[in-house]
Amino acid sequence: MIMDKNFNKKEKTMSKIIEKYSFGIGDRFARQGRAQLEALLQAKKLGVNLVPVWNKSYREHTITHTQPDTVRKEADAAVKALGWKDSYYVDADHVNIKTVDLFLESSDFYTLDVADFSGKPADEAGIKEFVKANQKFIGKLSIPGIDIPLDITEAIIESSARKYLLAIQEAGKIYRHVEEKKGKDNFITEVSIDETDLPQIPVEMLFILSAIAKERIPAQTIAPKFTGRFNKGVDYVGDVKQFEREFNEDLCVIAFAVQEFGLPANLKLSIHSGSDKFSIYEPIKKAIQKHNAGLHLKTAGTTWLEELIGLACAEGEGLAVAKEVYRKAFGRYDELCGPYASVIDIDKKKLLSPDEVDKWDGKKYAETLRHVQSNPAYNQHFRQLLHVGFKVAAEMESYYKAVEDNEKVIAKNVFENLVERHIKRVFV
Ligand SMILES: [Zn+2]
Repeated sequence: MIMDKNFNKKEKTMSKIIEKYSFGIGDRFARQGRAQLEALLQAKKLGVNLVPVWNKSYREHTITHTQPDTVRKEADAAVKALGWKDSYYVDADHVNIKTVDLFLESSDFYTLDVADFSGKPADEAGIKEFVKANQKFIGKLSIPGIDIPLDITEAIIESSARKYLLAIQEAGKIYRHVEEKKGKDNFITEVSIDETDLPQIPVEMLFILSAIAKERIPAQTIAPKFTGRFNKGVDYVGDVKQFEREFNEDLCVIAFAVQEFGLPANLKLSIHSGSDKFSIYEPIKKAIQKHNAGLHLKTAGTTWLEELIGLACAEGEGLAVAKEVYRKAFGRYDELCGPYASVIDIDKKKLLSPDEVDKWDGKKYAETLRHVQSNPAYNQHFRQLLHVGFKVAAEMESYYKAVEDNEKVIAKNVFENLVERHIKRVFV
């Protein structure tokens, strides 16, 4: 079953095939579609073909009280305004079987989030069958590009099945549901297992892909949990060398699995919470070039921080609104940080008091928030609290008005952040 080559043939007729390099954009308040697309036009001028994928997760829609069609409208409007000719996609980000229906109309990219099912075992018969189907890998398995052959034992296959088979079966369920509603070949599928406690090592990736093939999910991107911490809006925390080694090995495993299991030929890694991970951008860039691999990098979450930076730079009413957002976020610390506890690391002692922030000029606010590590004013705790504080802004009429009034200075910051700190470092 796993070696079903017809599955491979089916892939060749697939109509929606995502490009090699794609960039997850989108923003909490759907106001910066144009500025973001301008950044991708700039990428083109720099010689990189990067296609946009607008994303906003169910969780974010709930917090901002918005519907998925607002993201589709934002994307369509930006594409029309700038005359964008290439593909673009709208991602139903982190959906599960309960939430996916809300996105059927507006999305053509589905990030199937099955992290909650990882670590829970599938039924015994399924596990046995899976181990049997992968028996041929037992022993020393050479994978092109990986120096030392992988040591595969029956125990490794079984433990991978116990950790991930149920999750992938669930992904199969969601995939088939979307396929039934939208029609095969009309959407891109991503499988995400990034929001889990434990990272997946490359050998587990092999068996996760085996399970994906067995469920006949034509996944074009996969988002594993990598080693290290991918906190929201700040740099990577972890062993960069180990990350680099595993990232390279994952790319080799994917190339091997595409051949072995007949998965879509363009299957690539997707990096979630991918914004601001400056210390691993160089290793990522080297690896995708070395292996001639594709990449999907999600960055949407910090665009709204550029709105705050733009408001601060505008001084006057804009700065006043930015300060009010901070004061309120500071006062609602537990409520705002709770849902994001596993992806932020804030040292409360290093947070500034709202009274102190009130004394600042716009330059000081912008420099404290903007992710320029060499600037002594930059404060990652301030940044992380504001990152999860979009709920506060969503409740302020004055916020939306200030964003509209200061569109130009905000757009400049959104554009520069994507081009200078992200696109140039990863893709150019
Ligand atoms: Zn994610």
